[in-house]
Amino acid sequence: MKYPVSLNTFLGNARAVEILKRAIEQDRLPHAMIFAGPAGVGKCTLALLIAQYLNCLSPLAGRPCGTCAACTRIMAVIESRHLQCLTSKGGEFCGSCSNCRIRTKRHPDIRLIEPEKTTIAIDQIRSLIEEIAFQPLEARYRVVVLDPAEQMRQEAHNSLLKTLEEPPSRTIIILITTNPYMLLETIRSRSRMLQFGEIPHEQIEEYLVKTREHSIEEARLAAALSGGSLAAALDFNTAEYQEIRRQALQFVVLLLKKGSFAEASSFAGRVTKDKSFFQLWIESVAVLLQDVYYAAKAVERVSHRDLLGKLQEIARDSADPAVIRSINAVSKLRGELQYNVNRQLALEAMFLALTQKI
Ligand SMILES: [Zn+2]
Ligand SMILES: [Zn+2]
Repeated sequence: MKYPVSLNTFLGNARAVEILKRAIEQDRLPHAMIFAGPAGVGKCTLALLIAQYLNCLSPLAGRPCGTCAACTRIMAVIESRHLQCLTSKGGEFCGSCSNCRIRTKRHPDIRLIEPEKTTIAIDQIRSLIEEIAFQPLEARYRVVVLDPAEQMRQEAHNSLLKTLEEPPSRTIIILITTNPYMLLETIRSRSRMLQFGEIPHEQIEEYLVKTREHSIEEARLAAALSGGSLAAALDFNTAEYQEIRRQALQFVVLLLKKGSFAEASSFAGRVTKDKSFFQLWIESVAVLLQDVYYAAKAVERVSHRDLLGKLQEIARDSADPAVIRSINAVSKLRGELQYNVNRQLALEAMFLALTQKI
């Protein structure tokens, strides 16, 4: 995966980036921050970029050089995100495979705390607290990033709270979360919260074309289906998407035809089982509905061009107001999904609301 590597080329969320830039310039960065917003918009990457700004050994016009020992070792922290060892199993690290070699190059004072299995364990927080009681080994500023912070258990929350109450010197703690309300209120009140939003599709499309991650047609589709997440767009796999799209199109037809609830319900049971499948599926439903709307009016706005004939056929059989109502309902559902709602129930409720004959 390729990520933007400077605050100046960071994609989207210009306001949050500007606030951080100014705070760095004025040396007034809060010791504790929460980066809240949708997944895949670069919150964690941004946190680690800040570490570069604070620690570069030979900055150029206030910007990190990207090549000094501090910059390259912080880059290794960014690259080591989600890296599994290639040879050993069960979360162990062999220390010698290519993934483990990236890990060994990481900066010792720039700490990325990720869940071991599914949660950030109390032991991880305890050893972190012991470590930050001492001065940083090399860095001017130690930076600790917890991602996703809401995966801390209650006791881990409480331990961390004590640290935030008496912040260690030259240490900046950044909590990354999609839902800040799952963090303790007392943690929120001691941290500066920065809200992040989705990245506009046009920016993602432009980025994908520029970096040649996808062909122009693929870039267009990947951006349209990304839900405003660069990570999702970069991960987009055209072949895998075919099956998701097939099921999304079936649902769109069922919805616009006002099909039976029983059919919709068994459909919902299938597509909501796997969270990541469902996320792409609902994005696909959203884009297909827009495509139906545009199929008869503005073909150049249709994302699934290869389906144009089928989309025009569906459009002929559906009234515009019904299509628009569906577009709005799906958009509302996508918003709700950020907050751990029951996916199947939410999907069924939407179907009922749209198809009930009054
Ligand atoms: Zn540097
Ligand atoms: Zn290894």
